[in-house]
Amino acid sequence: MLNSLDLLFISLTFLVFIIGFFIKAKRWKRGQESDRFKNFYESFFSALERIFSHGDLLREKKMGFFHLFLFYLFIVALILILIFHLPIKTPSVIANIQSIVLDLCALIALIGIIYFYYRRISEKNRGFDNKREDFILLVWLLLIFVTGFLMEAVRLKVFKEKAVFAPAGLFFSIFIPSDQDFYPALSQIFWRLHFFLVLSFIAFIPYSKAIHIFLIPLSYIFKNPLPKGAYKLYDLDNSEEFGANKVSELNWKDLMDLDTCVRCGRCQENCPAHLTEKPLSPKKVIQDLKTVLYRSDKDLQSPLVNEDITEEVIFSCTTCRACVENCPAGIEHLDKMMEIKRYLVLMEGSISPEAQLLFKNLERNGNPWGMPASTRGEWAKELDVKFLVEIDDPKSIDFLFWPGCAGAFDDRYSKVVKKLIDIFNKANLKFALLGEEETCCGDPARKLGNEYLYDMLARQNIETMNNYSIKRIVTSCPHCLNTLKQDYSQLGGNYEVISHSEFLLNLVKDGRLNITKNIEGKFVYHDSCYLARYNDIYNEPREIIKKSGLKITEFERRGIKGFCCGGGGGNMFLEEHSPRMNDTRVKQILDSSEGKDLTGIATACPFCLTMMIDGTKTYNREDIAVKDIAEIIYEAL
Ligand code: SF4
Ligand code: SF4
Repeated sequence: MLNSLDLLFISLTFLVFIIGFFIKAKRWKRGQESDRFKNFYESFFSALERIFSHGDLLREKKMGFFHLFLFYLFIVALILILIFHLPIKTPSVIANIQSIVLDLCALIALIGIIYFYYRRISEKNRGFDNKREDFILLVWLLLIFVTGFLMEAVRLKVFKEKAVFAPAGLFFSIFIPSDQDFYPALSQIFWRLHFFLVLSFIAFIPYSKAIHIFLIPLSYIFKNPLPKGAYKLYDLDNSEEFGANKVSELNWKDLMDLDTCVRCGRCQENCPAHLTEKPLSPKKVIQDLKTVLYRSDKDLQSPLVNEDITEEVIFSCTTCRACVENCPAGIEHLDKMMEIKRYLVLMEGSISPEAQLLFKNLERNGNPWGMPASTRGEWAKELDVKFLVEIDDPKSIDFLFWPGCAGAFDDRYSKVVKKLIDIFNKANLKFALLGEEETCCGDPARKLGNEYLYDMLARQNIETMNNYSIKRIVTSCPHCLNTLKQDYSQLGGNYEVISHSEFLLNLVKDGRLNITKNIEGKFVYHDSCYLARYNDIYNEPREIIKKSGLKITEFERRGIKGFCCGGGGGNMFLEEHSPRMNDTRVKQILDSSEGKDLTGIATACPFCLTMMIDGTKTYNREDIAVKDIAEIIYEAL
């Protein structure tokens, strides 16, 4: 049992702990207000599910498995300590079960700690930036477990019949001398060591990265309530300051994230910019922002854009969301980088000449290439489809088809949308186009930080669609999908927006489209970031490919770990330095064992289509067909 001195030590430990936490929270308070309580109950229960399932961590199997045991051991140990201090006598059966569960969990956790240590020193190519703190924490935990087992070992020397319920403790008992005279002293020494190691570890938590034990659950609970890909909306008429260049211009959750990061490097490992030698590493951005946050203790004006977080770093991001979705700590990298981008563009006017040209084209002509806006509907003039302006009762249509700028102006992609029109007609659907009344959805402008331009384009489209009382939109462009579905609702545009992947699959399933041919070949499906990570559409495109009769193969970087083609975040219209992401992507496909007898690459995004075609050209592999899923299903009808 604990004596009064022990209770004093425990009180001191919690005091040091609370002071440490308070110091951190004071820093987060420098950030702006952000209402993270909107969907509190939903977020709370989803956080519980994420924490107890360890789903995020288990994507890396070995590491996740050991972390899971460490986590459950922590919980079990807490419960057992509480039970131990209750004034009740535990029945011996329960005590024996407790003993064996705790013993085995502790053994696995101990092996896990050794594995974590080994992983840090052996997997150098993972980009771990090993710091002394990482090893100190591991050794500290190791000592806590070893002293715990030694305490147990001494007990087992006395109560030999208990050994069967503590196999790991039994192993440690070989280190205990057989002379029983030593046992009281040894028992006291191990207990004291264990006790002080545990207390000092608890006191150290807020001053080290072990604080993630508390911050990760908070990070999950207080995640951004906006839909994925939608960003903070500014009151453009009444605001003079945009974006962030000081810690006080980020919000409190953004600042808390900086202390939550455990430097595991998963964001970096999945970042296409980092993997193609661009100056951006999302992990480094978070760490560099943390440096500025700590610098703000002395200088509140310390700039976020500095020698580490440069314009080049920020504009290397394709907004692919791989960092956010793969971060086990729920850190929202993109929210921070977007605010910095907005600061650079709207406050500093720091934009490349190519981006300036893009903005000019979008502003004057409503498309990225500067094609005359009046020609936007020409691609469809000869087709069996009507423009909304020609229809007496626009409400009578089932849906509006939104081809986007690529569908309207890109020669290769307009072949895809023409086939879609044919498919819709085969299925006897009532639909229409906006034609020259449509303008760019605004995605490249918003993702490049030009909120004014995005606002102008978005409001124009919303006004047009609301005038026609549009309720349902089908689009083949995932960037348009995300903008119309997630962003427009912030401006009063509320529509049911459906991707062509989901829509086509439903038509086949409902029997409105009949598959009559079996196409031969072996394809790989390249996930579009805005379809997959942004809108959780992973299976539908694959199912369509399978329905056509094609064999589909999968390879390592897919789904949530899919590798961006390089076209997102407005980068489709900007020059990329070598090595290019699309070339890297095609090389990954061709070099994989599944790539050997591949006949084609399937895509479900106009940017991915262009990028994959360019990539196959780079490697003189034009024998590999690159097709949109709409073209694949069209061939099978
Ligand atoms: S941001 Fe997330 S994924 Fe990246 S290093 Fe930190 S904890 Fe790991
Ligand atoms: S969004 Fe994609 S490109 Fe941007 S930092 Fe994250 S992983 Fe890298």
